[in-house]
Amino acid sequence: MLMEGLVEQLEGIVGRESVVRGKDKMESYLFDETCIPVRPSAVPDCVLVKPANSMEVSRILRLANENKIPVYPRGGGTGLVGGAVPARSGIIVSLEKMNRIEIDGENLMAVAEAGATLGGLLKAVEEAGFSFPPHPGDEGAQIGGLVACNAGGARAVKHGVMRSFVRGLEVVLPTGEILTFGGKLLKDNMGYNLMHLIIGSEGTLGIITKVVLRLNPKTPYSLTLLLPFNSRHDALNTVPRILRSGVTPLALEYVEKELMELSAEHLGEKWVFEGEVFLIAILAGEENVVYSEAEKLSQICVENNGLEPSVAERRDEQESILRIRSNIYTALKRDSMDILDTTVPPSAIGRLADAIDTIAEKHGAYIPVYGHAADGNVHSHIMKRDAEKYEAIKREIYETTISLGGTITGEHGVGKIRVKELYRFTHPKKIELMKGVKRLFDPNNILNPSTVLEI
Ligand SMILES: Cc1cc2nc3c(=O)[nH]c(=O)nc-3n(C[C@H](O)[C@H](O)[C@H](O)COP(=O)(O)OP(=O)(O)OC[C@H]3O[C@@H](n4cnc5c(N)ncnc54)[C@H](O)[C@@H]3O)c2cc1C
Repeated sequence: MLMEGLVEQLEGIVGRESVVRGKDKMESYLFDETCIPVRPSAVPDCVLVKPANSMEVSRILRLANENKIPVYPRGGGTGLVGGAVPARSGIIVSLEKMNRIEIDGENLMAVAEAGATLGGLLKAVEEAGFSFPPHPGDEGAQIGGLVACNAGGARAVKHGVMRSFVRGLEVVLPTGEILTFGGKLLKDNMGYNLMHLIIGSEGTLGIITKVVLRLNPKTPYSLTLLLPFNSRHDALNTVPRILRSGVTPLALEYVEKELMELSAEHLGEKWVFEGEVFLIAILAGEENVVYSEAEKLSQICVENNGLEPSVAERRDEQESILRIRSNIYTALKRDSMDILDTTVPPSAIGRLADAIDTIAEKHGAYIPVYGHAADGNVHSHIMKRDAEKYEAIKREIYETTISLGGTITGEHGVGKIRVKELYRFTHPKKIELMKGVKRLFDPNNILNPSTVLEI
């Protein structure tokens, strides 16, 4: 039950029009994109607030902290591990009204409020003549959510994940203080790096309100190279060879024909390329350099039993391939129990994929596999038809991943659905240190409780 008078107090902070009450009016804020069978159930007895600035966020958090009311920071709701789902009665803080973006061309930086969307940022950056390479899937994700999850995505190979682009943060602590970390700086060694602690903390240490992001100069030219193979083994064993060749693509994705056809059909499009499995490489830079890199990768592909590569140069062709790749998740979601994002050292990705095949065979299960090949990041879906074997399959995939020197989540995070596994696969001393950090930031455990850690 929510505290009596809470709604009125919140209205006093953000104004009546920015407070929403009643399940029917806030339905879309009660879930995220986690597969339904494993998504935590939301407690609809919540109040939704939409602050317009950091000071309002601070006053909301002070009020919540004084009264020990759970607070759920919310971005675009595209998370895949239930992080933004309110699992107890409390306050949902949506940052959507805080969406200003400023481009600082002199310093090659953007300053974005947390509620700006990835799509909005990409548009502003492109219009200003710069580029922001990361593209973690859904453009409806917000900058605060992307930083809170340290999102990765396809284009992390050359320039890294969100963490590599964040130079500064404004954060409101659960106790209400507004702090800034870093800034428009490329170097900063003043003590422990608390900014990097907050990046990836999944809304458990503070509410991110503003982000300084590094930009790149616009790349003059890009092309998408499709490297087809007849076997997964040949395709994935080609990945380390590409990485050793001196060519670092912007993205290097692994997909299978069956999944690309399914995704294309889901979008009302067609997948027309020959081959059973594919590596998709995005190359960007000066045109002549990109061409010679494409030639080099094509040669490596053919030397490793690959078929004839195809090149997409037109923007619409490139976008279509990326769109079909990005929508594999959406096409499979309806029939999926869960999507795993295990990650191993890049050279072990072939062994992980083979092990997943063996696990599938052992259980008579269907486990579709695709992923960010050069990052060793494998997405595998456990399907609803295999619901009875879900726990066993998940456990075996996680155990194999750990035995290969990997991690159970490379980009989606722990959220509310992988806490048990975090504890299982993490040294108890590390859990103790994490709990200590959480208590320092959030002594009353009000911020996104039961996410990442159970306190
Ligand atoms: C089709 C699809 C493809 C995807 N592809 C990728 C991919 O390739 N790589 C990848 O990494 N992810 C991917 N994702 C997952 C998702 O887009 C990311 O996790 C993203 O970072 C979530 O951002 P959001 O704004 O939607 O956050 P939400 O889902 O709203 O929240 C996610 C977490 O962040 C916290 N949070 C949100 N905003 C703030 C804030 N301002 N301050 C503090 N905490 C906050 C929430 O409390 C929650 O714990 C994909 C998702 C979909 C649906």
